[in-house]
Amino acid sequence: MSIKNKLRTGISFLFLLALLCSGFAVYYLQQLSNDSRAILKDNYRTLVYTKNISSLLDAPPALKPNRLKDIQTNLTQQEHNITEKGEKELTDSLQQFFNQYQTAQVNPAAQQALSIKMRDAISGIMTMNMNAIQQKDKKAADTSSRALIIIGLLGSFCFLIGFTFMINFPGYIATPIRELTQSILQIANKNYSKRLMFNSDDEYGELSTAFNQMAKKLSEYETSNLANILFEKRRIETIINAMHDALIGFDDKQIIIFVNEVACNLIGLPEDKLVGQFAPHIADENDLLRNMLITENKKMKIYADDQESYFTKEVLEVTNEDKFIGKVIILKNITEFQQLDEAKTNFIATISHELKTPISSIKMSLKLLEDNRVGEVNTEQRALLENIEDDTKRLLLITGELLDMGQLETGKIQLNFGSTHPKNIVDYAVKAVKFIADQRQVSISIKCDDNLPNVRADLDKSTWVLINLLSNAIKYSREGTTVELLVSKNKGDTITFTVTDHGQGIEQKYLSKIFDRYFKIPGASADQSGTGLGLAIAKDFIEAQQGKISVHSEMGEGSSFQFLLPMG
Ligand code: ADP
Repeated sequence: MSIKNKLRTGISFLFLLALLCSGFAVYYLQQLSNDSRAILKDNYRTLVYTKNISSLLDAPPALKPNRLKDIQTNLTQQEHNITEKGEKELTDSLQQFFNQYQTAQVNPAAQQALSIKMRDAISGIMTMNMNAIQQKDKKAADTSSRALIIIGLLGSFCFLIGFTFMINFPGYIATPIRELTQSILQIANKNYSKRLMFNSDDEYGELSTAFNQMAKKLSEYETSNLANILFEKRRIETIINAMHDALIGFDDKQIIIFVNEVACNLIGLPEDKLVGQFAPHIADENDLLRNMLITENKKMKIYADDQESYFTKEVLEVTNEDKFIGKVIILKNITEFQQLDEAKTNFIATISHELKTPISSIKMSLKLLEDNRVGEVNTEQRALLENIEDDTKRLLLITGELLDMGQLETGKIQLNFGSTHPKNIVDYAVKAVKFIADQRQVSISIKCDDNLPNVRADLDKSTWVLINLLSNAIKYSREGTTVELLVSKNKGDTITFTVTDHGQGIEQKYLSKIFDRYFKIPGASADQSGTGLGLAIAKDFIEAQQGKISVHSEMGEGSSFQFLLPMG
């Protein structure tokens, strides 16, 4: 039966009980009222009539002239109110005596005797009715105590039923709901084996069937999902193991969750000794893992398999909805590239060194050729000589840069630190670029206060950097614009050199790359592009002096290069 019908039946039953109770109460009240009405109607009135007759008999005829008529009226009323057994006979004899009484008016003695007989009859009727009153009173008392017992029993029964209903009904409704809530919580905690056991054929039964079906479906889904996840896991493991780079994954508590074969070989421990372990614990006894965890250097030199290898370290943070859940460290084996790079550096250094001498002698020869003492040259020859001189200068500049680069890459950079006023750096640099600025019709505005403190720097290298920034700014400026050079003191103990141009600007995506070696922004015109080394060398020079170099640029508005040097 459905809960709705059960509720309906239960409440109807209680309602019926209440109705039965009140029905009984009404019935007995009716009975009691009937009993008392019977006493009043049947017996009390007879007593009144007979009492009236008796007192009329006693009244002196002179005072009550209608006395006989009144007696007859009461007698007639009594005749119509016969209720008890034998009452009629007594009433009839009373009537007879009264009839005789009326006819014996002239004979007072006979009247007296008849009056006595009448009183006897009256007394008989009264006694009979009083007895009847007593009996009826007793009957009413019986009825009332019976009513009390029956209504009391019925009331107790109703109370018991109602009380049982009150105790059990909330539980009947609430217990399955509580059980359902618990089961839903279990499902939410991924315990899909949870089932509901409501074996009733009501709504709860339907609910438990639906819930169990849902749990079964979820469990099936979970199992199939698990199979998919396991498949994906195996696939990723295969890929990870096939990689030539070393890979180690950590969770957010630094527990190693996976490691590939290359990484195992490097660390020198098998996979089962690494996976599931707290990384810092292993790092305590394993130099390589410690290096991997703490080193900030991107490039690492690792001695493994009887040879020196070079790796770059990359850390990928794994997040889920912006919450850090782990990281993967990738060590890329760059030994081959490193060797190639070293070969390239040596090659460039040798070539540029070898080139410097012949280029210098070409320059020298050009100087001699320009001298009138060697011989007159005509205008065309002079123009040609000037061209050769320009190209020679350019060649010398490039070989100089390549040599610097070689120095930097082999770590042979020599710094001559000294305390110098920023103005010195500015003057040297501006002088050096004056010629190309004039050629390109770009003016240079300089703001460098004489009161600025000295900087601690290598004058040559810092000037070199400023020349490079200024010549880039001039190169990329439009004709007729101004390149601004500002030297200012910072809040800390540093001096900033800022070179701002109003040229084409640099696209945001290239900003992070322009300090890389040999990087040139694609699409530059032939007269603009150089070796792509200038900024890379500048960065190394500035950082070697504990300074910093940075760039800001807006497309179409120009670029601003800044480097800062410590005060000295
Ligand atoms: P290059 O010798 O090619 O000038 P740099 O290292 O000095 O090499 O500069 C790298 C690249 O950065 C340049 O090729 C150029 O595209 C870009 N660049 C440098 N300075 C500026 C500037 N002021 N405005 C626009 N682009 C610039």
